[in-house]
Amino acid sequence: MKLETLAVHAGRAVEAATGAVTPSIALSTTFERAEDGSFPHGHVYTRSSNPNRDALETALAALEGGAVALAFGSGQAATAAVLQTLASGDHVLLPLDLYHGTRHLVQHVLARWGLLADFVDMTDVASVEAAIRLNTRLIWVETPSNPQLQVVDIAAVTALAHAHGALCAVDNTWATPILQRPFELGADLVMHSTTKYIGGHSDVLGGAVIVNDAGLAASLRDLQKLSGAVPSPFDCWLLLRSIPTLPYRVRAQTEHAAALATFLSAHPRVSVVHYPGLPTHPGHALAARQMSGGFGAMLSFQVEGGQPAAMAVAARTRIFTRATSLGGVESLIEHRASVEGPDSQTPAGLLRVSVGLEHSDDLIADMAQALEG
Ligand SMILES: *Cc1c(COP(=O)(O)O)cnc(C)c1O
Repeated sequence: MKLETLAVHAGRAVEAATGAVTPSIALSTTFERAEDGSFPHGHVYTRSSNPNRDALETALAALEGGAVALAFGSGQAATAAVLQTLASGDHVLLPLDLYHGTRHLVQHVLARWGLLADFVDMTDVASVEAAIRLNTRLIWVETPSNPQLQVVDIAAVTALAHAHGALCAVDNTWATPILQRPFELGADLVMHSTTKYIGGHSDVLGGAVIVNDAGLAASLRDLQKLSGAVPSPFDCWLLLRSIPTLPYRVRAQTEHAAALATFLSAHPRVSVVHYPGLPTHPGHALAARQMSGGFGAMLSFQVEGGQPAAMAVAARTRIFTRATSLGGVESLIEHRASVEGPDSQTPAGLLRVSVGLEHSDDLIADMAQALEG
C-alpha cells in the first residue's frame, strides 16, 4: 500500500465491542488476569504496553517501513534509549551540526556513564571514516540537520558503519518518512521526535525509534519499560489522530518552504539561505538523490548585521510566531543561537523557520515587510 493509505489505516480497526470507527482512549493503567493467571488481552500494565501505544507503534512502523516501532514520551527519551543500548567504553560518532539536545545528552549525561563520542563534519564522508575507532559502535546521522540544513549521505555513512561493525541511526524528524526513507538506504535505526511533523499541531510531545533487528528491538523494549519514559494513552491517541494527514501536511508545508526559500535567496538583506532545495545549496544534489517529493519544510537564513538585525526581523513578523519547535501547522521563527546557549555553534545572524500551512503568498508578504524594517 502507498504511504497515504497506510497513514489512514495502519494501527486502526473498528472496535469489536462498540463498532467505534475511531479508537477509544484506554486510560486504565492495569489489566485483568484470567483465572489461570494469563492476560487474555495481551496487556499487563501500561508502562509495558497499552492499546493506544500499540496502535501508534503499529502505524509508525508501517509508515517508516520497519519491523518494530517503540514510542517514547519525547524525542529526547527516544534518543536516550538508542544511546543506552550501548555500553560504557563504546564510541559513537555524531555530526557537528545537530539538534543541540542530542549533543547535550551525550556530553552532559552519557559521558558520565562512560560513553565516548566524537563530533565530525558528516557532510564529508572521508572525515567520518577518519574518525572511526575500533570501539565505534554507532554513527548518528541527522539530515537535513538542525539548524543549518546540512545534508549527510545516509547510504555512504551506513556502508562505512557496517564495514567497521557499527550501526547507523538516522534522526529522520526533519525529513519525515514521507520525504526520506532511511531503511531503504541501509540504516539500522530511525528516530523521530514525533512532537514535530508527526504530531503536527504543537500540542503533543513524543518520540519514537523504529528498527528491523529483533535483538535490537528487544533491548529497546527493555529500556522503554525499565526507564519508563513512555507516552500517555492520550498522547498516543493524539499522535495517531495526526498521522492520516501527515503526507498532505508535509507536502504542502514543503511547497511553501521552497517558495519562501526562493524569495529569501533573492533578498538583499539576506546573506545566506540554508535550504537543500535551492540549487546553490552544497547538499542539493545529494538531497535530490536521497529525498523524494521535496526537501522539507524547514529552512534557516542569515541576516546581514548579525544577532541584533536577526532579532529585529523576528520581532517584526506578524504571521510567523516567535517560538522554538517545528513541524506544526503554524509557521514559527526563531533566533537559534540564543536558544542553544553559550556553546552554540550556530551563526549569530541565523533565523530558523518552520514553515506551516498558511498560504505561501501571505508568508512571503509577512517576511518581506519584516525584512524591510
Ligand atoms: C525536537 C527535536 C528533537 C528532540 O525531540 P523532543 O520531542 O523535543 O524531545 C530531536 N531531534 C530533532 C531533529 C528535533 O528537531
